[in-house]
Amino acid sequence: MRLLIWRDALHFDRYADLPCALCDSPTPMRSHTDEPVHKVCAEQWNHTHPEAPRHQAGTRDLGTRRFHDDVPTTSKQTNVRHLPQQSAPEALPLQLPTAERKAA
Ligand SMILES: [Zn+2]
Repeated sequence: MRLLIWRDALHFDRYADLPCALCDSPTPMRSHTDEPVHKVCAEQWNHTHPEAPRHQAGTRDLGTRRFHDDVPTTSKQTNVRHLPQQSAPEALPLQLPTAERKAA
């Protein structure tokens, strides 16, 4: 079964769980048309409706028109955020106990 790419925040409604259009259980997930649906239910529907009208982006088939992938972003607009690199902490100078310094 082909998995959907739903990375956009529009797929998650953090304020309301609504009955899934396919299984009736509550879900915070939303399709591109704002239909409440579990992602797995949408993937299962796509799997059982291969003949459904397609959603295209250029030459790419993103899935059925009802449930499809997020439109691919260009390399400049990415959803991935990189954290700033942390430099390693500097080593502290070795401190000898006072007694040994007196003896030396
Ligand atoms: Zn469901």
